[in-house]
Amino acid sequence: MPSAAASRIGWRLATAALALWAATSPLRAQDDAARAALDALVATYPQALAGHDGAALRWRDGTVMPATDGAAPKSFAELLRHASIVDQFRIPYPPGRLDAPPAVDADPGRFRNTAFFVKLYGDCSKGEVSARLVSIPWLPRTWGKSIQVTAVNGAADALRAVSLEIDALPADIKRAAYPIAGTYNCRAVADTGQPSPHSYGIAIDLNTAVSDYWYWQPHGGAIRYRNRMPQEIVAIFEKHGFIWGGKWYHFDTMHFEYRPELLGR
Ligand SMILES: [Zn+2]
Repeated sequence: MPSAAASRIGWRLATAALALWAATSPLRAQDDAARAALDALVATYPQALAGHDGAALRWRDGTVMPATDGAAPKSFAELLRHASIVDQFRIPYPPGRLDAPPAVDADPGRFRNTAFFVKLYGDCSKGEVSARLVSIPWLPRTWGKSIQVTAVNGAADALRAVSLEIDALPADIKRAAYPIAGTYNCRAVADTGQPSPHSYGIAIDLNTAVSDYWYWQPHGGAIRYRNRMPQEIVAIFEKHGFIWGGKWYHFDTMHFEYRPELLGR
């Protein structure tokens, strides 16, 4: 049986350890978040990324990028404009049918680290993205026009598969998928000034006649969620690694974007 003195020492050690754990656990949680984010990126983009050490991403050409930027907690507006690599994963993307409109400022996938995307797909203002675009037929049995998408990281192959599956849907459903409103476009996002995912050749906007966009609503009041995009189309895109703008509080229901790292692919 331990002596009373030994018990007291043991208790003090235990409480000291607990205090230390409590003080360091937020940091540990941050470390875990960074590691999970880096793991997902390395698993998703093996052609571009060689690995990570828990704090920084290592590219195959030797470039090293820090996972975090050491900035104090950021506002939503700051996250949209200055997201770190880990910030990209801050709001989990919910695959499947949406049960309720997204919560205020829940825009999974809209926090994008510009340096990461430019490194991955190129800088469109320097012609680096257009050099990697390929043409694929969109809904060959129904619409059949060529659209342009990047060949990097399998994006074009994934969009080709999406096209064939949507083309097999009933006519009254697939009408939401054409004519498209655009794919590659070297431009900035309207409300943030940051490069649009369209400027990397990884995004497509479907039929605006059956789409809804928060930016078209009168500004200033609360945003009222609205969607007419069929779930069958959303499910096909998600199956092939594309996230949908209809899952954002700042909804953009015509918009789909190749982000397989957010879908666990
Ligand atoms: Zn778009």
